[in-house]
Amino acid sequence: MPENIRTSNEITFADLNLAQPLMRAIADAGYTTPTPVQAQAIPLVLAGGDLLAGAQTGTGKTAGFTLPILHRLSAKPAANPRPGRPRCLILTPTRELAAQVEESVQTYGKYLPLKSMVMFGGVNINPQMKALRGQVDILVATPGRLLDHVGQKTLDLSGVEILVLDEADRMLDMGFIRDIKKILALLPKQRQNLLFSATFSDEIKALADGLLNNPALIEVARRNATAELITQKIYPVDRERKRALLTQLIKEHNWFQVLVFTRTKHGANNLAEHLNKDGITAMAIHGNKSQAARTRALAEFKTGKLQVLCATDIAARGIDISELPHVVNYELPNVAEDYVHRIGRTGRAGSEGEASSLVCIDEHKLLKDIERLIKREIPVVQIPGFEPDPRIKAEPILNGQNRGQGGRGQGQGRGQSAPRAGGGQPRSGAAGKPAAGHGAGRGAAPVLHRSGGRGR
Ligand code: AMP
Repeated sequence: MPENIRTSNEITFADLNLAQPLMRAIADAGYTTPTPVQAQAIPLVLAGGDLLAGAQTGTGKTAGFTLPILHRLSAKPAANPRPGRPRCLILTPTRELAAQVEESVQTYGKYLPLKSMVMFGGVNINPQMKALRGQVDILVATPGRLLDHVGQKTLDLSGVEILVLDEADRMLDMGFIRDIKKILALLPKQRQNLLFSATFSDEIKALADGLLNNPALIEVARRNATAELITQKIYPVDRERKRALLTQLIKEHNWFQVLVFTRTKHGANNLAEHLNKDGITAMAIHGNKSQAARTRALAEFKTGKLQVLCATDIAARGIDISELPHVVNYELPNVAEDYVHRIGRTGRAGSEGEASSLVCIDEHKLLKDIERLIKREIPVVQIPGFEPDPRIKAEPILNGQNRGQGGRGQGQGRGQSAPRAGGGQPRSGAAGKPAAGHGAGRGAAPVLHRSGGRGR
């Protein structure tokens, strides 16, 4: 797998030296900061080199290649402009992706005079032929229909300066390798090549070896790291108010089939007990339960009769449930990779899912580790009435359990604060912005205070 070449936390769009018309389009789109793949890919593509990027949908990869391509094409006029002779070819596996990518090209290129076009099969070829009689700078296409046009001599690929293979792994899965090879043979030797793939099988490596010239390597999200269909949210809350917040979230949104993760068996039991008291049907599932009890709980959970399952990471590993609408991290895991496993229970196979994390001050360091691993910031949602009290200090998480576990009450501000490894640093944009209604300005405690921007 390619190694990350650098991180992007500090980079802004202004640092990327994109042309003004692109900066305007970026501002119109409402983007404030480049995503990690953008921060890494844009300078590399602008420099003109080949690129092998491990990035999946949802990472912002499309803008990652579209923006620098638009910049390069607009900076230099076509050597030999002719109708139906694109300068950039973007191949995608499906028509949906092709349409989506071309829409991005239009969005980001709206203040530039460049023209784009999308072509895919399953629709009448005539309008595409007509469009090819005009200027086409950027062509987004699926391989089959592209070859149809080549066969009809309506398309001239001899002017391609930049080639992008988007979702190359899916193209190979869909059996496009021969088509891709045919297309490659039609392109000028001298060109820039960008290959995007969510995974790196031997087949992809072989394709990359034959296609790319001394490529730069970037990787921004591991396979399944944060699948595109999972909406992730952080709910800042004090440790002893987690249970009340969870109850409110479940009731307010009428969540069903909620898998709630705690750090310990004891915590799972406690929480299930308390949720039941709050009128939410819940059961803890872990190794101490008999197989019969677990089977019954699972069956009831699947039918929706049991609203909530509380589990530890280990217990959850042994149960066959996925594609859940809701996964809740009642407590963040000590090991960042476990977060990825946990949220992987939701949003699979085309079903949408939501992964919510209730995060108290003790867990800021764990959250940072998770965000570093998944290479994105998780949007923060502050539920009114649950703003963390800035007087509460971070406490160490002992034996995998902090004091708020299972709703056990704890007095506030008892002066028992103990520094945690790494110290609870404020999140980005958090400094000096205590949550409203809690003695603003007094608290030295870090406050999660970031509006949910990017990330889905
Ligand atoms: P993609 O991975 O290219 O499919 O992009 C995923 C989503 O992220 C799209 O809806 C984009 O509009 C959005 N997006 C891309 N770049 C940014 C950014 N820098 N800030 C916020 N959203 C972005």
